Amino acid sequence: MTPREAAISVVNKLVSAGHQALLAGGCVRDALLGREPKDYDVATNAVPDQVVKLFHGAHTVGAHFGVVIVKRGEHHIEVATFRKDGTYSDGRHPDSVEFSSAEEDAQRRDFTVNGLFEDPVKGEIIDYVGGRADLQARVLRAIGDPEARFMEDQLRLMRAVRFATVLGFAIEPQTWAAVCRLSPKIGSVSVERLRDEFNKIMLDPNRVRGFDLLVESGLMKELLPEILVLQGCEQPPQFHPEGDVFIHTRLMLSLLPEEVSLPLVLAVLFHDIAKPATQTVDENGRIRFNGHDQLGAQMTTEILKRLKYPNHVIEPAVEAVANHMVFKDVPKMRVAKLKRFMARPNFEDEMELHRVDCLGCHGFLDNYELLRARQIEFASEPLIPKPLITGRDLMQQGWEPGPAMGRALLAVQTLQLEGRLHTREEALAWAAEHGTEEPEG
Ligand code: ATP
Ligand code: MG
Repeated sequence: MTPREAAISVVNKLVSAGHQALLAGGCVRDALLGREPKDYDVATNAVPDQVVKLFHGAHTVGAHFGVVIVKRGEHHIEVATFRKDGTYSDGRHPDSVEFSSAEEDAQRRDFTVNGLFEDPVKGEIIDYVGGRADLQARVLRAIGDPEARFMEDQLRLMRAVRFATVLGFAIEPQTWAAVCRLSPKIGSVSVERLRDEFNKIMLDPNRVRGFDLLVESGLMKELLPEILVLQGCEQPPQFHPEGDVFIHTRLMLSLLPEEVSLPLVLAVLFHDIAKPATQTVDENGRIRFNGHDQLGAQMTTEILKRLKYPNHVIEPAVEAVANHMVFKDVPKMRVAKLKRFMARPNFEDEMELHRVDCLGCHGFLDNYELLRARQIEFASEPLIPKPLITGRDLMQQGWEPGPAMGRALLAVQTLQLEGRLHTREEALAWAAEHGTEEPEG
């Protein structure tokens, strides 16, 4: 059963029981656009109690809003009773909802292209809000008075940018004017919800448009004021013919592949975030940003914590920012150091960050290509193979546990990575003779 079949079976059952039931919102929009809907929503005049009685195992979520989750095979379909939202005194949640008609249910939705219904029994689109014409014209337009609608629920400001980005639609001028005017108000929305919208914008292949819309609307200033500080932060023109740090960062976004991980796109946004704070000009007039990678890693941690990202996103993003300057040292790294660098868990994303960092300025990919060649060269065995000896082996030889033993094990590993020690016996003999010396590179 496809998700669409599952949703239609829910509609059919509601209709057979004498109710009105329609596919609603995003799934109708996406089907008309030939896009795969992410999820299917059903809207009905049946009240939640009636829905629950009709579907075995159904449960209400936010009963307040009249939403019931119905399971069909492995699919979960949201069934929501037609409703009309009351006033929004907090700008986030309607104070009350009142069950109502399909037409009023369309009116309470955010954008005309999100306000369509489909009657799958009759094979008809039901359009109370002019959504079809806007889909045709590829325009995102608020339903009703844009200012009033954004004042009711400020998350819609971010949703406007998200849908314009993901759908590739123009924003209708009055809707856009309202987004720009009301952008300072997004502070009233929970940071988690803003972050989730931001992620959808930045993960979309059309992310540069989303980035531009966030900046132009003023939403970026509320969400990530640090990004705006990059504007006008001059760089040495011999290395950065493209322009200031903001232009460089934006250019990198445009060079990413369509599909990216969240840590990668965040690392692109923040890799140079500390350039304004570390900028100096030396006696020869050369601009420098000493330590911008380390301060950048700290700032990235703070920013991502502020936006309540989980650690599994923060850690690789911060690691990538902290290491982005190490790539310039690759040609002079000894093999063991290089292998350890390449074996780090998020290395492929860091390679991509480095690639777009180079292409976003001087355009030379020498170190990138060198690393790719090394990957082929090293491919026959794991970058970090099973150790030849362990602490236990050394203790049997009379070593005491402690920092000296740690150094000896590291030295043995270095020689193993460089193909200079091959067996346990060779390793034990080397440790006995050289102890904790740093092997020559
Ligand atoms: P997608 O699921 O692809 O993110 P969607 O359009 O389905 O997009 P959802 O957030 O799943 O968006 O919401 C489903 C529908 O509910 C929307 O199409 C819209 O009609 C309505 N909706 C959701 N959030 C809001 C909101 N904040 N204000 C008004 N209507 C909303
Ligand atoms: Mg949806």
